Amino acid sequence: MPTRREFGATALAGLTAKADRKLEGAFVFEAPGQGVEAGHRLRDHARFAAPARRVRIPAVIVGGGVAGLSAAWHFDRRGFRDFVLLELEQQAGGNARSGENAVSAYPWAAHYLPVPDKRQPLVHELCRELGLLHDDGTWDERWLCHSPQERLFIHGRWQEGIEPLVGLTKADAAQYAHFEERIAGFRLSGAFRIPMEAGLAQNTAAHRALDGVTMGEWMRREGLYSPYLKWFIDYSTRDDYGTRAADISAWAGLHYFAARAPEEKGPLTWPEGNGWIVKRLLAKLGRYVRTGAMVHRIQRQRRGWLVFTGDTVYEADFVVYAAPTHFASWLIDPPPPRWPIDSAPWLTANLTLDRWPANHGVEFCWDNVIYNSPSLGYVIATHQNLNTRQDKTVWTYYWALADGRAADQRRILLGGDWNWWKEKILTDLERAHPDIRRCVSRLDIFRIGHAMPRPVPGAIFHPERIARARHQGSLVYANCDLSALSLFEEAQYRGVSAADYVLRNASSTATR
Ligand SMILES: Cc1cc2nc3c(=O)[nH]c(=O)nc-3n(C[C@H](O)[C@H](O)[C@H](O)COP(=O)(O)OP(=O)(O)OC[C@H]3O[C@@H](n4cnc5c(N)ncnc54)[C@H](O)[C@@H]3O)c2cc1C
Repeated sequence: MPTRREFGATALAGLTAKADRKLEGAFVFEAPGQGVEAGHRLRDHARFAAPARRVRIPAVIVGGGVAGLSAAWHFDRRGFRDFVLLELEQQAGGNARSGENAVSAYPWAAHYLPVPDKRQPLVHELCRELGLLHDDGTWDERWLCHSPQERLFIHGRWQEGIEPLVGLTKADAAQYAHFEERIAGFRLSGAFRIPMEAGLAQNTAAHRALDGVTMGEWMRREGLYSPYLKWFIDYSTRDDYGTRAADISAWAGLHYFAARAPEEKGPLTWPEGNGWIVKRLLAKLGRYVRTGAMVHRIQRQRRGWLVFTGDTVYEADFVVYAAPTHFASWLIDPPPPRWPIDSAPWLTANLTLDRWPANHGVEFCWDNVIYNSPSLGYVIATHQNLNTRQDKTVWTYYWALADGRAADQRRILLGGDWNWWKEKILTDLERAHPDIRRCVSRLDIFRIGHAMPRPVPGAIFHPERIARARHQGSLVYANCDLSALSLFEEAQYRGVSAADYVLRNASSTATR
């Protein structure tokens, strides 16, 4: 298990402002050659020395997040083993990376997988292979999120569930009912599916028009003005898509609610979040994976591609490009058209607590959200632990920087030093936990400048998104941002379908 040092942490320590308790912490994944620094070298077209080695290989996968690993999973299970997966960071997994300390394993970003419904055969297959889904159709109870699952701090106390219930008027309740009725209709239409591609053919002109307005505008048209409902919808779109309801495409905002069954059991979750799945995929596929192998150029040849890393150039017939699509025009020569979808910046933090803060109201849950907070709250990494409650714990804290222009928010994300962000985080948590500073001994922060696609109006039916998602030629795209929706299932689907295309075309090339 990698230590914090291996993550490239910049060690820092400070005294918290309101208690003389030493609080240690760092920014993680920010060592030279990783994360933001590596991204900026690519963006700025930095010069790279010519690689010493040349390797001929039928296929290269660029990027080892869930999409790239899913492409590798599909190659391997179809018996195709002549490929390499190149990952920039020292640890594969992308947004599904995880860490571990003496108290618990914890996620760095993605932390759960909704229990898939029957219409998601790929996720089912993976879950069966990983032992999450048994032959008799039951799910492994260890990893179905235990009760109590969710709570909301509102009007000075914790209530059960995240949908605000305290202080609702009759008018608010009527608006909740109206919204649910509209969502039920959208669900029945079949236009909103996971993967999203599966529902596109069911989209009528009226559905497509939803991509022309923001969720905020759609709500105004529907007469939905309840402050509680507005907060809940805004929380949901920030939580899954890093984008405010006022800015997100109504199609994407409605997809969040209409694409899944209303009552799902689950979700599936682990102390290290989706890092649990990544670890199991790596146990099987690790032999294909090269970490610390940043691709800095992908150059078209008369036949195939040259893929450049620091020490090796790969001569490949096919490239599965599973790194963020946004970076493609920095890497690929000749560059593809500009990618039209901006990305949302995020910050996550892992807080190690030596003791639990005082609690008032509903007991600690897996997911803990604070009403009207700029953050999305925190998830408790030790929640699935079967021991009676532990003295120490780790909380994973989430913040989508969703206000205004993403570029401005990225400047704020990268401009604040560790002390500044630590104060923002603790001050936010103090709303619900006034004694939090006396409980935390360590606070590590992950800054993700381009964390996920921002599905603003026009993104879903943008011709360039649709063209890039359609595989052609010998370089195919696979990151989940092709769906404009950052979800495990979308990443898996994109990775598998790109690999499948390569397999079909590689065999037709071979038999020609
Ligand atoms: C804070 C946060 C929380 C989330 N929570 C959830 C959740 O709970 N459940 C859920 O389903 N989804 C969640 N998501 C969405 C998550 O993004 C997807 O589920 C999925 O993990 C995305 O996988 P991906 O492979 O498409 O992209 P990424 O994870 O972005 O992977 C891309 C990979 O490409 C690598 N790369 C980039 N450039 C290069 C290069 N030049 N050379 C080589 N490699 C390169 C990157 O290092 C990275 O490993 C969350 C996202 C964020 C940001």
